[in-house]
Amino acid sequence: MQRLIITLDGPAGAGKSTVAWRLAKRLGLEFLDTGAMYRGLSAKCVERGIDPVAEDYAVVELARNSDFHFDWSQDPPRLHVGDTDVTDRLRDNDVTGQVSEVAAIPGVRQVMVREQRRMGKDHPRLVTEGRDQGSVVFPEAEVKFYLDASPTIRAQRRAEQLKAAGKKVDLKQIRDGILERDRKDSNRKDAPLICPEDATRIDTSEMTLDEVVEMLHGMVTESAGHAL
Ligand code: C5P
Repeated sequence: MQRLIITLDGPAGAGKSTVAWRLAKRLGLEFLDTGAMYRGLSAKCVERGIDPVAEDYAVVELARNSDFHFDWSQDPPRLHVGDTDVTDRLRDNDVTGQVSEVAAIPGVRQVMVREQRRMGKDHPRLVTEGRDQGSVVFPEAEVKFYLDASPTIRAQRRAEQLKAAGKKVDLKQIRDGILERDRKDSNRKDAPLICPEDATRIDTSEMTLDEVVEMLHGMVTESAGHAL
């Protein structure tokens, strides 16, 4: 089976998860949400009362000793950490509030990068999304995208997602949280959020979800049609 890895990186709320999932379905590929893995670890830290700033060593140990696996039979795949399905916890405020601290710990990133590459071997026809997929995890990916949008639009989109999931929303709080996460994700020492040089950068502020998926689909068909 011919390998086809498509990476989608970008800041919080740029619509990556939904776009990546829909693009994967349309192309008949699998979908990997790497933010979910950092969120899953963050949820475990909340559960155990571990403070990721003061106790980074404990977070690394937890990451090393936890088994992260997706149930690929579900669409989108659900995340299990050990025996627990943590999927419904991933977007809760307490988990989101500290996920960038968790993700900035170098020992944590080592574990996640290794796990993601292993998943890439097991599932070599993949649309994967995150912050470092094209730059660090799959630098040799066949197609790379970087999705961006203005902070206000990103906050609105996140609010819609949360509303749809039946959660309470405060738009200003969401926007502030997104900006804070951008700052932390872009300034961390290890694998900061960047647009890889060989990625196509797309500003989705003025585009609908359908238009973004359509555009990416067209570009993949054009540049990697032979592998489809
Ligand atoms: O994409 P999502 O909002 O679910 O990601 C949650 C957090 O996980 C990000 O703010 C970032 O700190 C971290 N992350 C990361 N590298 C990835 C994916 C997510 O550092 N590849």
